[in-house]
Amino acid sequence: MINTKEIQAIDSAHYMHPFTDHKSLSDKGSRIITKADGIYIWDSTGEKILDAMSGLWCVNVGYGRKELVDAAAKQMLELPYYNSFFQTTNVPAVKLAEKIIKLAGDDYSHVFFSSSGSESNDTNVRMVRHYWATLGQPERTVIISRNNAYHGSTLVGSSLGGMGGMHAQGGMISGIEHIEQPYHYGMAPNQDRDAFGIEAAGWLEKKILEVGADKVAAFIGEPVQGAGGVIIPPKTYWPEIQRICDKYGILLICDEVICGFGRLGKWFGSQLLGCKPDLMTFAKGVTSGYIPLGGVVVGKRVAKVLIEQGGEFNHGYTYSGHPTACAVALANIEIMEREGLVDKVLNETGPYLAQKYAELAKHPLVGGAETLGLVAGFVLMKDKSNHVHFDEEVGVGMICRGHCFANGLIMRAVGDRMIIAPPLVITKVQIDEMVALIQKCLDATLADLKK
Ligand code: PLP
Repeated sequence: MINTKEIQAIDSAHYMHPFTDHKSLSDKGSRIITKADGIYIWDSTGEKILDAMSGLWCVNVGYGRKELVDAAAKQMLELPYYNSFFQTTNVPAVKLAEKIIKLAGDDYSHVFFSSSGSESNDTNVRMVRHYWATLGQPERTVIISRNNAYHGSTLVGSSLGGMGGMHAQGGMISGIEHIEQPYHYGMAPNQDRDAFGIEAAGWLEKKILEVGADKVAAFIGEPVQGAGGVIIPPKTYWPEIQRICDKYGILLICDEVICGFGRLGKWFGSQLLGCKPDLMTFAKGVTSGYIPLGGVVVGKRVAKVLIEQGGEFNHGYTYSGHPTACAVALANIEIMEREGLVDKVLNETGPYLAQKYAELAKHPLVGGAETLGLVAGFVLMKDKSNHVHFDEEVGVGMICRGHCFANGLIMRAVGDRMIIAPPLVITKVQIDEMVALIQKCLDATLADLKK
């Protein structure tokens, strides 16, 4: 039996957590998560919690999958580790690269492996700059990204990201530009959604012209912005972004770390949203978070230049193509295929969640409720008929999150937006349970605000 107080004291004394205000930990202590199964996790007090965030958007096949454990154990006994530097390789990495290319489609030929989304986005930046230099255009270095984007926590990742708080701590690398995000409900709720999508994509063209097309290497974006608050773009947005990138010959990078591996009902989000990125970042769902693995899916346009003309790409990680991580990823993809999870998101659970969110939208606090596949978000509004937000000092998202915490539900607050991304194995009955919990937490938040 775990001594909660003792572990919390040691945690507070020695463990520096990511994205945590440590002063707040010294009062309450961290919640200690001790076990998990399916879509549920348990804490050290024995409380069962519905994990509507799949950990950090990653546990796609749900918790407690023995097959993944067995795949890791088998591989560890055979060959736990070897690198892929200097003309060596290993079977799981080769098979996984082949599998991912099959899932990505004919426009792609290679996969570069890392251990995380952040490392993969660093890889992207180095790769596109190397690509342009190889083609004799070394001045093409600028990467255009978006406000409120999240692309990781390394210096490159946080610079690509559009989170002001991250830029303020630790600085930014040069050569990164940002444009506004395509947030229809937050920016132009009265404008026609599709027209807004075209206008928002047009901000990319404006930025390209401002920087100079001959200086721009690539545009990067998450198909649906995740950590920024599940910002689902109008359907016109990505095809227009593609058109603009094509017009100026600029490389398109989709950061599929959240959207990849089934979350939107396709293997990659870009396959649903109508663009064909030159590079796709992946991580998280590729192993359902059971073991760290990430990478970049490289399109033929880039791979051809790098392989035929680029010489040695001086880039790589000790764990690139880690055999155990790759074996787990293969087993994870096998589960997803066998259980038809991606189609289920597209045709069954995704539409069902959309239906439930349409009902949730009637709640007096809920504005702009939207879903796509198994991501969803809404804004907690003070007066939704007149589109009035709560003042920031109210901290309405934190109030709601507190009620989720107290009611056995993991839901994430991003400012006044409440977001979810449940495991892809969630059933319709469990969606009912999750939405009923959300409703309960909304009612409790409303009652609090009236006090
Ligand atoms: N890109 C996106 C879209 C993400 O959501 C994340 C993490 O949440 C990352 C990159 C960074 O991935 P990692 O935390 O594995 O470095």
